[in-house]
Amino acid sequence: MIDLQIHSNYSDGSNSPTELVQLAKELDLHAIALTDHDTVEGIPEFLQAGEQFGINTIPGVEISVDTDLPANGHVHMLGLFVDIQDRELRQKLDFLRNHRTIRAEKMVQKLNNLGIDISFSEVLDEAGAGSIGRPHIAKILLKKDYVSTLQSSFNKYIGKGRPAFVEKVKFRENKAIQMIKDSGGLAILAHPHIMNYPTLDHMLAKVLELQACGLDGLEIYYPGMSVKVVQALTVLAEEHDLLISGGSDFHGENKEGISMGSGRGDLNIPDQVYEDLKNRWESLRLKQKYAL
Ligand code: AMP
Ligand code: FE
Ligand code: ZN
Repeated sequence: MIDLQIHSNYSDGSNSPTELVQLAKELDLHAIALTDHDTVEGIPEFLQAGEQFGINTIPGVEISVDTDLPANGHVHMLGLFVDIQDRELRQKLDFLRNHRTIRAEKMVQKLNNLGIDISFSEVLDEAGAGSIGRPHIAKILLKKDYVSTLQSSFNKYIGKGRPAFVEKVKFRENKAIQMIKDSGGLAILAHPHIMNYPTLDHMLAKVLELQACGLDGLEIYYPGMSVKVVQALTVLAEEHDLLISGGSDFHGENKEGISMGSGRGDLNIPDQVYEDLKNRWESLRLKQKYAL
């Protein structure tokens, strides 16, 4: 079993990269990827812990993409096997993180306007050194008893379309995909169902549009994705030579009901998924190196 979408406290997860690797070891996982939002700052610690505990660790990142979508839809792009030394990648991620901070301040302002007593410095404290995300704000609302679950923070206040939501600054799809590929990574569309298309055909058409921009693969194993969607994406991946990935989107205690590896209990991502991704990445790397 593997898990290729995991968040640490370098973004909005609650565990350190070392704790994540330790947990993966206890669960006997074959491979894991750290995919923090807009940051690779946790990767050195993650890779080092991987060596220490004898787990295959993949350096990754997750970025949000600006594209045309139905209401309340999202495109998140995972970069797997990115080169964290790549200067351009780091500069672009710095830019996105700075804008996350500005956005969080705007969300606090909106919450204040709704009569909620929350300050920006509380959000900064909650996020610590990490890339600031909505789960940090959700946690404060829960602690202060404005909501009874993290999920209800999103439903009432900070989910897309709710009164305290503020959009992030994002790159368009071609730029987002390219920045991952320029740093040597594979661009994988995360949880395709959250694009929120009304029909499977619409969703599949969008995937092909993203493939034309350089998309390498799809996250097909994900908690709660319906059998119908999984089947349709699997067929599409086979027909169009797209890679397959999978992850739980584990955020520790910052996301209720999700366990590493097993998601909501029934996720079971085969080791072969990791091996196929790694093989593709290695052959692409060789091609680039020798300009084949
Ligand atoms: P952000 O990148 O700041 O927009 O926050 C995104 C994170 O918030 C995701 O990775 C999820 O963990 C969480 N999230 C987003 N939307 C929801 C939602 N409707 N319900 C619960 N969690 C959500
Ligand atoms: Fe997250
Ligand atoms: Zn996501």
